[in-house]
Amino acid sequence: MNNDYVNESAILTVENLSKSFGGVKAVNSLSFSVAQNNIHAIIGPNGAGKSTLFNLITGVISPDEGKIQLVNQDITSLRPDKIAAQGVSRTFQNIRLFPDMTVFETVLIGTYLLTGGKLLPAIFRTKNFRNNEYSAKKLIEEILHFVGLWDMRHEYAARLSYGNQRRVEIARALATNPRLLLLDEPTAGMNQKETKELMELFSQVNDQGITILIIAHDMHLVNALSNQITVINFGEKLVEGPPEVIQSHPAVLEAYMGRAEMNA
Ligand code: ADP
Ligand code: MG
Repeated sequence: MNNDYVNESAILTVENLSKSFGGVKAVNSLSFSVAQNNIHAIIGPNGAGKSTLFNLITGVISPDEGKIQLVNQDITSLRPDKIAAQGVSRTFQNIRLFPDMTVFETVLIGTYLLTGGKLLPAIFRTKNFRNNEYSAKKLIEEILHFVGLWDMRHEYAARLSYGNQRRVEIARALATNPRLLLLDEPTAGMNQKETKELMELFSQVNDQGITILIIAHDMHLVNALSNQITVINFGEKLVEGPPEVIQSHPAVLEAYMGRAEMNA
């Protein structure tokens, strides 16, 4: 049994995780762990199972087999809101914003998890809720300053530039007060300037003590940003290591550059 994924200081541990769709093994006996405070990248060709992995971790779908552990709590197959309440937050590969909400309103939604997500206290405006609401609004103000969207808080989120829409999603994810932030190809479709600015933002998020698990295609970004990389292909772990090891690894070059057929 290969236990090299077991890591004492892990915030997230995935063990023998599998998920099939019909005949396709999207995730296949995948094991790895994410160390506290790391920026850990997941790379691999299209269809490798990266987004499925995020859907499994966040409880959007349940695995066929395997275990997902947050620090030492088993979160396998918990409901998405329960997992979010444990401090796991995410952005989606395709930006998902409501068309008729302002930036501020969009991020406020994220904090409903913080305020308990309970409707009754909101209706009756209990003292506790009022206090929570106050702190939620203060928190959003802080987050919007942090991500650089404060001046745009009254604008419709879905009408912002692509880069800023992504910031709104990141702000919304931060509003749930995550310990672990999952970013699914957050810079896909961004120009170079937007990519660079988002990378800086991710590093600042990480400096706040938030562990980041990021799916990315841009090797330059991955090498510059992350301190650990897991390469997956056909739902399985191909190799894992720090960027300096991964970027020159023959198996990675072959699989990632789409030259798997050259693999003798
Ligand atoms: P990646 O994010 O690495 O590009 P995905 O996780 O999106 O890959 O997909 C992995 C495989 O699983 C692909 O073959 C994809 O078509 C399949 N897949 C993903 N989600 C579903 C789904 N909900 N239903 C059926 N097949 C799916
Ligand atoms: Mg994907």
